[in-house]
Amino acid sequence: SPIIIGLTGGIGSGKTTVAKLFNKLGVESVDVDDIAREVVAPGENCLQEIVQAFGRDILTEDGSLDRAGLRQIVFADTALRKKLESITHPAIKARLKQKIASCESKIVLLVHPLLFETGQNSECKFTIAISVSKQIQIERVMRRDNNSEQQVNRIMDTQLTNQERIERADFILENTSNNADLSVKVFQLHNKLQSLLSLE
Ligand code: ATP
Repeated sequence: SPIIIGLTGGIGSGKTTVAKLFNKLGVESVDVDDIAREVVAPGENCLQEIVQAFGRDILTEDGSLDRAGLRQIVFADTALRKKLESITHPAIKARLKQKIASCESKIVLLVHPLLFETGQNSECKFTIAISVSKQIQIERVMRRDNNSEQQVNRIMDTQLTNQERIERADFILENTSNNADLSVKVFQLHNKLQSLLSLE
């Protein structure tokens, strides 16, 4: 089975961008956000269980999950949030394991916005935190998603701070400059990981 390297960072810190740069260097990646969406797709067991627990009103007309509606319900009620998590978390964990096992590269990047918050860092050989200032984070997300500053702030409130991630991670990737600079930094970190893991 591959060596798992965890990649984390706050909203808009550049996780997807960094994962693509690693992909170019032959390192496959598995993104927990993608998996969280996949497990509630139509036809999945998880979606059936959510309908059993929350009722058919939680589906849109085409039979897919009304994610925004569900988010509103569980945001206001801790017991319901726990209920939802008891359905989705095991499914996400199982699929994550399956996807990592099916990767062919020696190193696999586990891309997770809440890597430390969920304790999934314990499954990783090393962890990488992307470091950006709050200001840059807000600017980039507002530009990408057309979000308000308030919306971005609300999401950041549910995540560790930049400083807390820096303290926990084995490696830091500064993503405060341009894409070319980031690309060089990823290349250097990849080299370092390869020599540490004796993969050269
Ligand atoms: P999320 O947690 O919201 O999924 P993310 O951590 O995956 O976000 P990205 O989507 O990779 O972050 O990056 C956020 C935005 O910032 C994107 O529009 C991306 O193109 C841009 N971006 C990332 N790094 C840089 C950079 N070094 N220079 C300029 N723009 C960047």
